[in-house]
Amino acid sequence: MTLYRKYRPQTFADFVNQKAIKTTIQNQIISGKIPHAYLFTGPRGVGKTTMARLIAKALNCEKRSPETYEPCNACLSCEEITKGISLDMDEKDAASNRGIDEIRSLKDTVRFSPTRSRYKIIIIDEAHMLTTPAFNALLKTLEEPPLHVVFVLATTEPQKLPETIISRCQRYDFKKVSLGEVVAHLKAVSEQENVSIGDDVLLAIARRSEGYLRDALSLLGQVIALGGAGREITFEEAELVIPRSYKDRAEELLSLIELARAREAFALIEEIIDAGVQSEQFLFDCIDCIRERLITALDDDKTRLRSLKMLDIFIKRAEDIKRTSFLPQLPLELAVIECIGKENPSNDNIKIKTAVLETKTLTLDRIKSQWKNLIETLRTTHTALTVALSSCTPLRMEGNRLILGFKFRFHYNMIKDDKNRLFLENVLLQMFNEKLIIGGEVIAEDQTLATEPKLPLDINQAGESSVEEVFGIV
Ligand SMILES: [Zn+2]
Repeated sequence: MTLYRKYRPQTFADFVNQKAIKTTIQNQIISGKIPHAYLFTGPRGVGKTTMARLIAKALNCEKRSPETYEPCNACLSCEEITKGISLDMDEKDAASNRGIDEIRSLKDTVRFSPTRSRYKIIIIDEAHMLTTPAFNALLKTLEEPPLHVVFVLATTEPQKLPETIISRCQRYDFKKVSLGEVVAHLKAVSEQENVSIGDDVLLAIARRSEGYLRDALSLLGQVIALGGAGREITFEEAELVIPRSYKDRAEELLSLIELARAREAFALIEEIIDAGVQSEQFLFDCIDCIRERLITALDDDKTRLRSLKMLDIFIKRAEDIKRTSFLPQLPLELAVIECIGKENPSNDNIKIKTAVLETKTLTLDRIKSQWKNLIETLRTTHTALTVALSSCTPLRMEGNRLILGFKFRFHYNMIKDDKNRLFLENVLLQMFNEKLIIGGEVIAEDQTLATEPKLPLDINQAGESSVEEVFGIV
């Protein structure tokens, strides 16, 4: 049995976090004013289903006196709920039972009175995974709830639930558990397991699990498994199972940013991602390092301001990491570009010059044939960019450079922007498995895009007035 299940709180007193939610629910149990449906939202492993089970237990406990909210944990109902075999508590995982049949059978369940207890408690975990017909069926039940039924919907993604469902529920947002609470919990569990683990190890576990109690206990279980009886587990031993921090590499990256050495920074990012490190994890390591710099530089105005700016950039990139999950290195690369841009307003250092290399298999025709696909791929996430890409056409290849022809200067300027250009180069790398450098030209509006326009091939021939119109020249 995992530690998380073994030490799952069986009383409200054991439930150490989410204090405000806990107090409200305890009062509801004593007063008997129970809503027909709860909605518990929040990240995984912070106690949503544990709280749901506690409610079930307290409501159906045969020996609970009216003035207390704590279940007795000794009567038949309590025991059955602990073992997960109670007929009056139905726990569904919507991730694996998404369909309408499940909800239909659930409707049958709610029609009949509880087998033995006062209430039937129906827990639907990962409720956002239900299909639309299933939601509709559930909504009907929620609109006319039988008196003896209490629903608990739990979800990590409430924004995916229909508003009609949410409005029928009493909503509680569960928070991540604080570092101190996680450490206290780990300490209590390791004492009950009779193992000796230093506070430094517990702190490292708590830090790595970032407020997710379930992850913390899973790590603790692995650390405990390392140790022999009656011997303290050392930090060095524990490090074998606690995911490694890449803070030394993060420090390296930050130094490269300060030196405006973008090319080396990109190489480091590539190496890190290739080694299988999650980009989210590495972003967090970077944020942690910048934070430490900030703290040690509180009296140094220049370093403090610079660190604040960097922190801001990295946090923003970490926040929208989900939008760029198809390119794990992208948020890191963008953070590098933005930071260096801030350090050097002239932007001189971020032009990454790459020698012209012959591409092996990639032809202009192949790129053209995929152009529509590329636009479709980006349409939902990068609307402005797709408009620009729709109005340009791949003109020609020059070695590993792909030259795009633009009808309009503002689209040309948009793609010329380093951030967009590098983004696009990365997307192309992902599509074709070849590193392309993107160049562009503005094609006069009277020229049709289908014909090969006579345009300057390099910056010298282009003359001064045309420099603006050509980018991507090596
Ligand atoms: Zn009981």
